[in-house]
Amino acid sequence: MEPQLPFAAGKKIIIIGGGVAGLAFAISLRKQWPDGSAFPEIVVYERDNKELSIGREGYSISIRGDARSGGLQALEKMGLSDTATQQAVSQSGVDGSGGFMMWDLQWNTLLGLGNQPGIRITRDTLRRVMIDAALSIPEVHIRWGTACSDVKLEDGIVTVVLPDGNVDQADILIAADGASSKIRVSVRPDDKLSFAGAVLISGSSNFPSGQVPAPVDRNWGLVLGGGGTGFFTSPVAASRALWSVSYLSNEPREKMKTPYSQEQVETLLEEALDRGRSFAEPFQSMVKNSDPATVKVINAMDKPPFSHADPQSPIIFIGDANHPVSPFAGNGANMALMDGWELATQFSKAKSLPEALTAYDKSSVSRSQAALSQSHWSISMAHATGVKLFLYRTSLKLIGILTWLRG
Ligand SMILES: Cc1cc2nc3c(=O)[nH]c(=O)nc-3n(C[C@H](O)[C@H](O)[C@H](O)COP(=O)(O)OP(=O)(O)OC[C@H]3O[C@@H](n4cnc5c(N)ncnc54)[C@H](O)[C@@H]3O)c2cc1C
Repeated sequence: MEPQLPFAAGKKIIIIGGGVAGLAFAISLRKQWPDGSAFPEIVVYERDNKELSIGREGYSISIRGDARSGGLQALEKMGLSDTATQQAVSQSGVDGSGGFMMWDLQWNTLLGLGNQPGIRITRDTLRRVMIDAALSIPEVHIRWGTACSDVKLEDGIVTVVLPDGNVDQADILIAADGASSKIRVSVRPDDKLSFAGAVLISGSSNFPSGQVPAPVDRNWGLVLGGGGTGFFTSPVAASRALWSVSYLSNEPREKMKTPYSQEQVETLLEEALDRGRSFAEPFQSMVKNSDPATVKVINAMDKPPFSHADPQSPIIFIGDANHPVSPFAGNGANMALMDGWELATQFSKAKSLPEALTAYDKSSVSRSQAALSQSHWSISMAHATGVKLFLYRTSLKLIGILTWLRG
């Protein structure tokens, strides 16, 4: 009897969005594809050009190796963890290196998770590592600077309308175009982002090389107890660190047109200094040394994940396009990497699309729901005052003791 081929054999797949999730899917599919069946043709439409400005991607993200996140494991399976780790800003789980921390106002450690495996890497570096891997696959074609916003499904064929008015067609479409997904707006117009109740003013600060002030030179995390103001910081490079001051709000802040004027940047920096006046140095130095091009206001937005209710439909949403979380989750890229790997696992072995999607949704949706709940918990903790703050600090101490006992 002839061996049964994966349903995706010989098909054409369009991926909208060459970010973490989209590239992870393409790389992972090549890695897991069985010998002897035709590898699909993959076309990636990416809105941005290959090279990006620092203001767009100049932040760092933590790729975690703990059981819940698994981004590092996904990179390892793709064969990219060594390259990514070599180019990381900081590595945890290694003696003497950095890790995720929670500090009090004077930068005393409330919780230190330096023993948990993981890396801190700039979004731009991770992107470059993944682009190089994707471009080394002959069947993967990336069309740069091409934003797609309209898709149609007719007789099982997906048609994508390109910005120049031409169309492209495929058997399967993977929407991986990020949190504000235009494809989600086109296919699921009622599935909108919601405001998660916090506003961030953030920026990246420049220092002479090797002089990013401790403890931000290697560690990243939250400062608690700012009287309703949260502070997150992380290293980005030997000469660069990211900061964000946040506060709770009932409404998102009005969107400011980019690029911000010098006056707008100065006003935002003054506001950040004022909101964070109870934080000790190096808070002030970090805000004052900000690169004006990186200063921005971010409304924390998110929405619940969804499963693919019609498993016959060949339009599939992964990463932030499906389950956007706010920066308070610190987990969106990890989930995007795992989504890419796991969808590719199903595509490489399932005999039908419904079979692949049912198995994929089972792990992706529950994982994303847990990350969403955890991000809301982080928002509450970062801005806690009074009794609530006392309770959070006590639980952090307990978590620290338990983590230390587990080694
Ligand atoms: C400040 C900040 C800090 C963060 N820190 C962390 C962290 O520590 N750990 C973590 O795991 N996550 C973190 N995240 C979240 C993480 O960056 C995202 O969750 C992750 O990048 C999602 O991957 P994605 O591929 O789904 O979307 P994206 O990485 O956003 O990729 C989407 C891609 O689609 C492209 N695109 C968009 N629209 C279109 C279109 N219409 N047509 C074609 N292409 C399009 C975009 O240019 C982009 O390349 C952070 C996010 C921010 C903003």
